Amino acid sequence: MDSALYVFVEDLRAEGVRGLLDRASTYGVRGVAVAAAYHQARDVTPHGATRLTLRGDGVHFPPPEDLFGGLRLAPPVQPGAEDRPVEELRAACAERGMRLHGWTVFLRNAAIGLACPDVTVENCFGDRGAPADLCPAHPDVRAYAVALARAVARQGVDTVVAEALHFAPFGYERCSVPLGPMDAFLFGLCFCPHCMSRAADLGVNAETARQECARIVGGVLDGDPPAEGEVTRAALTAYAGPEAVAYARARSESVTSLVGEVAAAVTAEGARLTFTDATGAAKGYAHGLPSAGLAAHDSWQLGIDLVALGDIVPSFAVLGYARDPARIADDVAAYRRSIGKNPELRVVLRPGAPDTDSADRLAAKVRAARTAGAGAADFHAYGLASFDALARITGALA
Ligand SMILES: [Zn+2]
Repeated sequence: MDSALYVFVEDLRAEGVRGLLDRASTYGVRGVAVAAAYHQARDVTPHGATRLTLRGDGVHFPPPEDLFGGLRLAPPVQPGAEDRPVEELRAACAERGMRLHGWTVFLRNAAIGLACPDVTVENCFGDRGAPADLCPAHPDVRAYAVALARAVARQGVDTVVAEALHFAPFGYERCSVPLGPMDAFLFGLCFCPHCMSRAADLGVNAETARQECARIVGGVLDGDPPAEGEVTRAALTAYAGPEAVAYARARSESVTSLVGEVAAAVTAEGARLTFTDATGAAKGYAHGLPSAGLAAHDSWQLGIDLVALGDIVPSFAVLGYARDPARIADDVAAYRRSIGKNPELRVVLRPGAPDTDSADRLAAKVRAARTAGAGAADFHAYGLASFDALARITGALA
């Protein structure tokens, strides 16, 4: 079974490349996935050089001029990128026979969104309140994503691990009005001109869908009772009507075609694309207790068409953010059924809180994932987990 440890560039700086790889080797992982392009975050880092670590949006290498010179959007460059930490890691991995994966955050970038608000998602009321969420239907965003994929592949990685290469779940910092899951879903749909035009091309009445979303969500904000129950196509059809559902489903065309372009670009640079489906994180991130519906059955809500992607993506990563090994097995099996038997399927596990409380539990999850059809177990993330939690990996992979 293949395996990798997710690491941050800040981890490499804290411990030194060789020190970190020495430790990763004791865990038995066959590779590392380094965050070559990441998003803003403020993380508690238990064994880091700082115990609270501020990360920025952008890349940890100098962006190639030939890829971004003619584009409107370019990635912000992180301090220290000129020292080329990814190159140093690549050389050290090669010496040890370890694989190097380039963990790449694509459409989550508040620095870009604040500078160019028109490339961010726009809700049914015409608000652009999510600067970090770049819309996959916007032509400038699509050109940026393809260039970013090429740029990371050129760092000499074996794979480009794509995070946030789909629509984002609806998010906010504060909300003092009760919103049901379906209200939140409708509130999060993008109705930017590019999304509306793509949906219209597919025969969807996009303006009717927008008006229905605005009527329902506006009503709840004005005091109507919120929706009850999880988001399913049937429940959503009853709640918001067929045009809203058709509109939501049409979003997958924007994502599938973009992922196809990115996969081709990565292949052209001599690497391989791993597509990460964040649905498992949306369901289980906070507590490791995902809601009842399996992640693979909810992926469509982020514009992800697993059946279509199974034909164009060689490798998938899915997030097993759950405490229960049986749940991991059910999720992995459902993904395998959707993507087909050929693509690689990697399950990403958290070795510590809130998902894992013992070495036995982590080992049970790895076994469950393998039996259900996963070919790799990856661990998220070196800088976030305690050394005690990370030490559980050794037994889990033995
Ligand atoms: Zn859009």
